[in-house]
Amino acid sequence: MSDIIRLLPDHVANQIAAGEVVQRPASVVKELLENAIDASAKAITLIIKDAGKTLVQVIDDGKGMSTTDARMAFERHATSKISSAEDLFALATKGFRGEALASVAAIAHVSVKTRREEDDLGTQLDIEGSKVTGQEPVVTPAGTMISVRNLFYNVPARRKFLKSDSVELRNITNEFHRVAMAHPQIAFKFINNDSELFNLPAGSYRHRIVNIMGSRVDDKLVPLKEETELLSIHGYIGKPEFARKTKGLQYFFANDRFIKHSYLHHAVVSAFEGLLPDKANPSYFIYLDVPPDSIDINIHPTKTEVKFEDEHSIYAIIRASVKHALGQFSIDSIDFQKD
Ligand code: ADP
Ligand code: MG
Repeated sequence: MSDIIRLLPDHVANQIAAGEVVQRPASVVKELLENAIDASAKAITLIIKDAGKTLVQVIDDGKGMSTTDARMAFERHATSKISSAEDLFALATKGFRGEALASVAAIAHVSVKTRREEDDLGTQLDIEGSKVTGQEPVVTPAGTMISVRNLFYNVPARRKFLKSDSVELRNITNEFHRVAMAHPQIAFKFINNDSELFNLPAGSYRHRIVNIMGSRVDDKLVPLKEETELLSIHGYIGKPEFARKTKGLQYFFANDRFIKHSYLHHAVVSAFEGLLPDKANPSYFIYLDVPPDSIDINIHPTKTEVKFEDEHSIYAIIRASVKHALGQFSIDSIDFQKD
């Protein structure tokens, strides 16, 4: 009998990898927004149609790509962001896996227009199911515009399991909120089916939070600030009266990324102890900055779950600084609202 093991062709490997990176339109939104941020964009526009099922388009004014790089960008494990394993311990970028564009291009119709400031002409590239179907020079503004159409057109099972437009739009909006709140120094626009949902000018963290969450939160925010050797913390916690029986607004960011961390969440909740009625959830927008070599963001492809080197100390510092910020409040002074 002959041997039977063979390497999968690239387009098949890409499609399998895509299953991990791209679960839904919101995953495409996250990857494209992060690429625009890594390209040092100052203004980013997100345009979607039909909750991203028909179109996800991201336009940035970042550094753009050469023609060769635009081609390379769609190869698997192709990245400009790291070059050695050591770089993984000092990440300054959102991306580093070099998988997003290859994955997206395996399961959608993708077209890119990109130009570097120093080039007269840019490049347009069209890719379908990992195959380049067109490439030509174009006149285009400096920066990059990526359009992802007909997501999962060749993966019917995935397409069928997409949720209703309103659910997928909610997922995209959540993703947009997280990225925009992590980067208030970048201007963002978000347009869905030709109507503008957000137009966020560059500004302070507080402005960004209020612009996204609504002016009703403005006088409910208590600032937080703490510098230690291990980490620096800034951000806001919601006054106790802003706590909700429903989930509340809970945002942790670490080194400019939204993260989920149930242990650190508990640190905040426990600092609120005695200030909230039973089962009410505090709201918070807490930004942590730690040395890049003390955080591991490579434990999951979507990078929202992370590990810190010294989680117990970080827990204690967060708890103490939230308690400190809450010092002025006591349970008797609070008039709880029902929601
Ligand atoms: P990663 O972000 O992990 O490097 P991606 O597949 O998302 O992998 O992107 C591959 C490469 O394409 C990036 O490393 C970057 O060099 C380039 N790239 C992607 N998007 C942009 C963009 N909007 N502007 C400039 N370069 C980009
Ligand atoms: Mg990327």
